Amino acid sequence: MKITFLGTGTSQGVPVIGSTHPVCLSTDFKDKRLRVSVLIEWDSYVYVIDCGPDFRQQMLRASCSKIDGILFTHEHSDHVAGLDDVRPFYFRQGDIDIYAHERVLKSLAVRFDYIFNTGYKYPGVPTLTTHVVENTPFKLHNLEVVPIHGMHHKLQVFGYRFGDFAYLTDMKTVEDHEIEKIKNIKVLVVNALREEPHLSHFNLKEALDFIEKVNPETAYITHISHLMGFHEQVQKKLPKHVFLAYDTLEITI
Ligand SMILES: [Zn+2]
Repeated sequence: MKITFLGTGTSQGVPVIGSTHPVCLSTDFKDKRLRVSVLIEWDSYVYVIDCGPDFRQQMLRASCSKIDGILFTHEHSDHVAGLDDVRPFYFRQGDIDIYAHERVLKSLAVRFDYIFNTGYKYPGVPTLTTHVVENTPFKLHNLEVVPIHGMHHKLQVFGYRFGDFAYLTDMKTVEDHEIEKIKNIKVLVVNALREEPHLSHFNLKEALDFIEKVNPETAYITHISHLMGFHEQVQKKLPKHVFLAYDTLEITI
């Protein structure tokens, strides 16, 4: 299985528009973070988790010419706003499969009414095949995907386990029985916004505590704000099996 980090930034991305914060002005490519998303490839299958406003740019950068589907974590804009850009895939491949909580599918239908409105379909609008994700495992081809339920302040969010890989973003609280689903996994990706506490996201300490509970072989941190600091400096402070993810990072499991 190959994982490509398409984006590792928080909702505004890094740099933030107009910001003169030193991290936003950094010339290190690891300090340039598009909105959070990840590409998962195994056998001949290609899936993305989330489809934010940088989706088009991310697909071009990763030279991705086909996708088998999109899994959504939740309905916030930084995770869904790029959905219209599935069109090139739709034109080549036909209907695109999307997977999300029923609430998220309803939200997408409001936001992208012209896609979901079956009454009048403008030519060129993509057709999506929707799959409701409940908190129970489901199959994608030959692989079992296990949803991980967590809370983003008061909003429910799904993380996903694909075999030896788990991806959790926008988490603030995860109950112990959900953590059981990913204990001792090989590779864990989890969000941490910055060092300071935040209402709806793990800060760095909370993420590190979470990683300790899960006890993965290796962990990567994503959904990172410029306020976290320079990639190179923050990396030096982390335990030896924990890494800050950066855009374009690829890992093979
Ligand atoms: Zn987010």
